[in-house]
Amino acid sequence: MALTLFNTQTRKKELFEPLDAACVGMYVCGPTVYDLAHIGNARPIIVFDVLYRLLRDIYGADSVTYVRNITDVDDKINAAAQASGEPISAITARTTQAFHDDIDELNALPPDVEPRATEHIGEMIDMIETLIASGHAYEAEGHVLFHVPSDDDYGKLSNRDREEMLAGARVEVAPYKRDPADFVLWKPSEEGLPGWDSPWGRGRPGWHIECSAMSRKHLGLTLDIHGGGADLVFPHHENEVAQSECASPGQPFVRTWVHNGFLSVNGEKMSKSLGNFITIRDALDGAPGEVLRLMMLSTHYRHPLDWTEEGVQQARTRLDRLYRVLQNAGEVSETGSDDADSGDPGFDAALHDDLNTPLALSELERQADELSKLDGPDTGRHRRTFLASAGMLGILQQDPKAWFKGADAAEDVSHIEAQIALRLEARNAKDFGTADNIRDALAENGIILEDRPDGTTDWRRTG
Ligand code: AMP
Ligand code: ZN
Repeated sequence: MALTLFNTQTRKKELFEPLDAACVGMYVCGPTVYDLAHIGNARPIIVFDVLYRLLRDIYGADSVTYVRNITDVDDKINAAAQASGEPISAITARTTQAFHDDIDELNALPPDVEPRATEHIGEMIDMIETLIASGHAYEAEGHVLFHVPSDDDYGKLSNRDREEMLAGARVEVAPYKRDPADFVLWKPSEEGLPGWDSPWGRGRPGWHIECSAMSRKHLGLTLDIHGGGADLVFPHHENEVAQSECASPGQPFVRTWVHNGFLSVNGEKMSKSLGNFITIRDALDGAPGEVLRLMMLSTHYRHPLDWTEEGVQQARTRLDRLYRVLQNAGEVSETGSDDADSGDPGFDAALHDDLNTPLALSELERQADELSKLDGPDTGRHRRTFLASAGMLGILQQDPKAWFKGADAAEDVSHIEAQIALRLEARNAKDFGTADNIRDALAENGIILEDRPDGTTDWRRTG
């Protein structure tokens, strides 16, 4: 079945054809590690995880290389270290670990290569030297800048004119720039900031050259797919194209550009100042990773996605229902296990059509309806096809028993917390009899309460 993808470069849905079906390469810009990842960052993780699963299904797992970098040198990291006093290496190590822990919970497969910017400084310096030698970059006051007017194709990805580009990039108009649109490839590092020796003195790379150098090192000069959030189209990806294509004339950098739409929270842009900033970790406190995945995949990846509590609850209800069908179908004896799994044509067609995950989810629910009505020798085969489809979306990965046990445990916790609140109310009203009854009833169920000096109550289970 043919895969079509919307290519940001041509603004069209196109048949996807890799340069070499035996080694398909996908590069996705990864996180800058200075803070916990938020639910907006989870969107590209989930979207490109589904694309990765699909490519592995089409071309074979050994024929696909997924590269997602870690940006571990950046001014935001330096600022975080300055603000907290924590050493930079500790911040980046801790945040990288937190990122991995969070996205594991979202069932995202690890990429094949996860290059770190700080381990590719040599490659960045080489590329910058090539750009200087060919007249596309110049040194000025310890900085090296990419000279935008030297590249006739500049702007072709984002399709912006010069005025729009200058406004969009909000580039600093430094006196040493030959053109206001020129952007930094290398900049000097003062004492105390991360820096590496280079032909231009001790310094550090700009963000854009990091991805050009790392993608080239791990996937070669031409990438089949390059992805990221829509906010990266300009200037980050435009600048990546300029650097990579000017460093290797005649070699197109990317064949298919794929960008996910933005996530908002209750209709507003997520931001710390608005108080609607939700980390992946906060979201996982409220719902299991599979629920968050289903919630994100119920909107097409190119559309804006609005995060609401109702949306999360709806996703939970949908997933519970799918697990219930799986559980019931699991009680039927497995038959016909020798049949090759052929997939579900309706589900596969939806996913191959520019990753139409909302339609794929309805097709999965249609499969569930069919499965719930079956009770003959075909049930085992349908159940396997249903599970294989769900696996392409990275959901229904648990044993249904474990799934429902987890949900019961969560309900149990909210019951305990409600009882603690009632006991506190009773105590405040000096109704010590009721308060003690609640404590005793919980104790009978193996829940021990511990009153804290600050008036709060902790609880733990015995045994
Ligand atoms: P950053 O760490 O900000 O560079 O973001 C890492 C990835 O998350 C990039 O691909 C961004 O485009 C993406 N991203 C950041 N915020 C959002 C959002 N609100 N919605 C969707 N994607 C986002
Ligand atoms: Zn990048």
